Amino acid sequence: MKWKNWKGGLVFAMLGLLILLCLMDGKRKEIHPLTYVQFWQMAEDGLVQSVTVGEGEMWQATLQDGTLARTPNPRAIDGKERLLSLGVDVKEQAAGGGPGLWLALGLGFFLLLAFRGKGKGASMGLQKYAAVQADETIPDITFQDVAAAEDTLQNMRDLADFLRDPQRFARCGARMPRGVILYGPPGTGKTLLAKALAGEAKAPFFAMSGADFVQVYVGVGASRVREVFKKARKAGGGVIFIDEIDAIGKKRDNGNDEREQTLNALLTEMSGFSTREGVLVLAATNRLDTLDGALLREGRFDRRIEVGLPDYEERLKILTVHARKKPLCPSVSLEDMARATALFSGAQLEALLNEAAIRAARRGGEIIEQKDMDQAFYSITVGEERPRPMTQEEKRITAYHEAGHALLTRILTPSVCQVRLTVIPSSRGAAGYAMSIRPDKMLHTRKELMHMLCTVLGGRAAEEMIFGKENVTTGAAGDLKKAAEIAGAMAGEFGMGETGDEGTDRRLIQQQAMEMALAVLKEHQHRLHALAGALMEKETLDEEEILHWTA
Ligand code: ADP
Ligand code: ZN
Repeated sequence: MKWKNWKGGLVFAMLGLLILLCLMDGKRKEIHPLTYVQFWQMAEDGLVQSVTVGEGEMWQATLQDGTLARTPNPRAIDGKERLLSLGVDVKEQAAGGGPGLWLALGLGFFLLLAFRGKGKGASMGLQKYAAVQADETIPDITFQDVAAAEDTLQNMRDLADFLRDPQRFARCGARMPRGVILYGPPGTGKTLLAKALAGEAKAPFFAMSGADFVQVYVGVGASRVREVFKKARKAGGGVIFIDEIDAIGKKRDNGNDEREQTLNALLTEMSGFSTREGVLVLAATNRLDTLDGALLREGRFDRRIEVGLPDYEERLKILTVHARKKPLCPSVSLEDMARATALFSGAQLEALLNEAAIRAARRGGEIIEQKDMDQAFYSITVGEERPRPMTQEEKRITAYHEAGHALLTRILTPSVCQVRLTVIPSSRGAAGYAMSIRPDKMLHTRKELMHMLCTVLGGRAAEEMIFGKENVTTGAAGDLKKAAEIAGAMAGEFGMGETGDEGTDRRLIQQQAMEMALAVLKEHQHRLHALAGALMEKETLDEEEILHWTA
């Protein structure tokens, strides 16, 4: 008895110590990342107090104002000497060390105790390790916290309705999706959307990442998948979110057993449950093209929602959402910020505001002022691997290119309905794309095909007309390929050429179409300017706006 009490006390003491260490470690985590260039700039300006150099990937630095910072370790020989000559206090890091080591030691000791206490400790521990790290809670965020394109949000609202009352849909015989893939560049809010969906439907949220599965022991991934489904069912439904699904769902390459098993477990679980159970699986990826076809089949991830980079309106919304919790000087214009940040993702916009807040705090200010925003913008865009905002010139070229397609489509093939026109690149690869719905029709006359060809070449034609032949960009590569295909078919299969030689005919047809495109654009120059102007301003135009500006 006594012995047991003693041991219980020790465990508690260890726990206390651990928590303390974690807290200390947590404090230390607020480390400001600096690029190597920024770091030396600051060192030269005398802003760096001390640096701990070592063999690690990063140098840790303390700035004069006490802020902790880190910068990549260049592992250059003269680094230390240069720092010393700038009057910086240089410390050498002993191998290992730091609270991390303490934490590991403490944890080891604690586990040892726990295992010894219970005879079958070791296997228990492993099972714990295999347990899903799902935070089975109902998220407290809703769609209010996400700024997404309207059609994306509409899709998500449908899913939320379904989650709230799956039976209602089942009664009406509606087949709801089991799996939804959110795809788009990193940081565009895919995780956030999934979480908000659960929050909106008051359903528990279970998250895991595909990347976690590929390094663990064979079988663990599969059992984690089964476990999370079990938990969701037990909870009476919920949202299961799998980030980086491509890590397990890549097109099968013979080799990785673990991935194969995990993927199979996922597919089995997904076809095993009935949608009445109100379990919805959401997965996110940046690369839809690499996914195994088996995942995309009916009854699995058969719904796909693109989550693209935000356009001006969406960026403004994202900035507004995140500025809610930040004391912003009234003279700071989020509109200006939104305008200057084309090609930024939501995460980068959030980081921008955060960086500005850090700067305001660092100079002892109470509110975020324009100068903090400017500095934050500067520091975020000059650092490497950060977004390079779209220059005004790039935007102008893209706007004219897309306007060329859209205007020619309106004039030459008016039955094609154009629903979206944008200068923000989509995951489909094109810089700016015109999405249109073509009425299905099998037979085409030569004139119709010529017109279609004109609209395809319209982007390049507009660039050539406005910026000159020598300034056309590579942005039209996809168009030219498509044009060659159409012209090739006209010259070949359809026998619509004039000389009888396929190669010559194809070139002639393409040339004629280009001339025609240029001529039509010239004739309607004012409309081209108006449309391109609207695109530059708004970045995305919807169906109604396209009709308005091409009228
Ligand atoms: P993804 O899963 O697409 O990589 P995340 O959802 O993890 O992106 O986004 C990271 C963070 O960036 C979010 O937690 C949020 O703070 C911010 N963010 C990204 N997109 C949006 C958005 N559309 N609306 C509001 N905040 C966003
Ligand atoms: Zn184009």
